[in-house]
Amino acid sequence: MSDIKDAIAAVTDKLAQAARDCGRNPDEITLIGVSKRKSADVVASGIDAGLTHLGENYIQEAVEKIQALEDKEACWHFIGHLQSNKARFAVQCFDYIHTVGSVKLAREISRQAEKIDKIQKILVQVHIGGEDTKSGVAPEKALELVREIAEFSNIQIHGLMCMPPYCTDPEDVRPYFRQLAGIRDEIKALSLPGVQMEHLSMGMSHDFAAAIAEGATMVRVGTAIFGERQ
Ligand SMILES: *Cc1c(COP(=O)(O)O)cnc(C)c1O
Repeated sequence: MSDIKDAIAAVTDKLAQAARDCGRNPDEITLIGVSKRKSADVVASGIDAGLTHLGENYIQEAVEKIQALEDKEACWHFIGHLQSNKARFAVQCFDYIHTVGSVKLAREISRQAEKIDKIQKILVQVHIGGEDTKSGVAPEKALELVREIAEFSNIQIHGLMCMPPYCTDPEDVRPYFRQLAGIRDEIKALSLPGVQMEHLSMGMSHDFAAAIAEGATMVRVGTAIFGERQ
């Protein structure tokens, strides 16, 4: 418990410093504690130590954990790969879904949200860095996808998310973060009806300071808070 508390304090300090270093207000950056593969008890310690936003990657694991933590106050973010046939669970349990990269998935999310009278907040995942993973829309198709998703009644787009290739030196990843910020700015400038573009979800344990320097408003931090995963 005190380990987690210390870790959260250290990450919060580093986040605030990174924000001040580039003239930003730390309050505009949301720290999301990524709790995948960590037990509900561990996550409860994180919430008790002051975490208010949590990120999960695997639907089944997350559903069980969120139910177990029902009486705790927290905002839940789905940040893993989401298959359309699991959209229902994501819509039921999560405040934000960060990983929408196709019309097909968006349509299903909207359909499921409509059933429970919810407007689902989402981010569009952009495939920055051209690597292995198949998640996310290609940068040059991001605007088109945003326009298509904006047509769905029960979805509200709040920004963009990316997961660039791992770079040992966080400086090397900055061009990818900058690219996502540029796409966000372009879309934002269009003021599309029903589209908000206030969020940029980018940066993890080892590179969140670089992401903040490039405009991140949500950083997703696992290891630096909860320790190594099994
Ligand atoms: C696991 C994960 C994180 C957190 O990674 P750490 O390096 O442990 O901070 C952030 N974002 C996504 C999408 C993840 O899957």
